[in-house]
Amino acid sequence: MQTPTARINLNAIKHNYSVLKELSGNQKLIAVIKGNAYGHDANEVAHALPNADAFAVARIEEAINLRRSGIEQPILLLEGCFCHKELLKASQFNLDTVVHSHNQLEDIERCPLPNPIKVWLKVDTGMHRLGVQPQDVEHYKRRLEAFDYVAEDIHFLSHLSCADNPSSDKTASQISVFSSALENVNGLKSLANSAGILLWPNSQFDVARAGIALFGISPQITRTGKDFGLIPAMTFETSLISKRDHQKGQAVGYGETWVASQDTTLGVIAVGYGDGYPRSGSNNACVYINGRLVPVVGRVSMDMIVVDLGPKSKDQCGDIVELWGNNLPIEHVAKSAQAIPYELTIQLTSRVSKEHCFESYTKA
Ligand SMILES: *Cc1c(COP(=O)(O)O)cnc(C)c1O
Repeated sequence: MQTPTARINLNAIKHNYSVLKELSGNQKLIAVIKGNAYGHDANEVAHALPNADAFAVARIEEAINLRRSGIEQPILLLEGCFCHKELLKASQFNLDTVVHSHNQLEDIERCPLPNPIKVWLKVDTGMHRLGVQPQDVEHYKRRLEAFDYVAEDIHFLSHLSCADNPSSDKTASQISVFSSALENVNGLKSLANSAGILLWPNSQFDVARAGIALFGISPQITRTGKDFGLIPAMTFETSLISKRDHQKGQAVGYGETWVASQDTTLGVIAVGYGDGYPRSGSNNACVYINGRLVPVVGRVSMDMIVVDLGPKSKDQCGDIVELWGNNLPIEHVAKSAQAIPYELTIQLTSRVSKEHCFESYTKA
């Protein structure tokens, strides 16, 4: 009997990297593998991409783990170093850092670093989360360039806030702010995330940064990865552990939130919010079993969900159930659970075993 397992096809990730590289207009492509590669295992993913131009993570511990596991490509800390001590570590482990604030600039100015560090200046082009103002770029650049332990040239990045929405005019405005703020600089420029690569050809500069799409998932919830020629890397499966007859008018589960409208067969499936399955999928999501989709009925509990297999079901205990993957796009599950796919893959708990493989796949 199979307990919850996420099978992760590293060949799919390799395929997606090359598709994205091409779609990005052959910019350099940073594989964003923060959050343990969005739950896919950062070490496994990084080692499966020996030709990746670079990697990026959010926290210095993530980067140091990658270095310790033998990753030699550049690794960028997307939010930079949070204090001076981290900056020393970053220099020691040959990590590239972001400067997005005055504090981070002062940390760099405070004292020499053991190895020259590559700095990416983050510019706020309209997301208003991190970044220096476009009119201050010249000032930051000049101060950074004054130190010989800051590698030449300074590079530049910014982040898109609405790129998953093709009808928003925000992206065009961010592209234009980014271009004009950086008209006269030498360093590399990086703007596009997955949505930029897939939906906004004008967001192409020198370097793109792909996270979610690398795993075969669409950043735009109304489409699936396959619509863009990507292959979903993760298949999340478990098994049917019980099957029972259920009468019209009977409820099921905590709070009796679902009542059968006809005599039917209910299946109990070994997965719950304790594995990272979204509780908001209660009465909303579907699962894939024996070639068809069946609805989740009643509340998702910690270790189990109940599905309506329908009258005269021929399913059997032990049958494999797909919660998302090749047959049931994660984008659909996320939509029905009012979540985003990013949350679903990263929320898988340590109870879920992750199996990595290099399977062949059917081309999208
Ligand atoms: C997470 C992140 C990305 C990757 O975004 P996706 O939507 O997953 O492609 C790119 N850039 C920055 C700064 C990020 O934080």
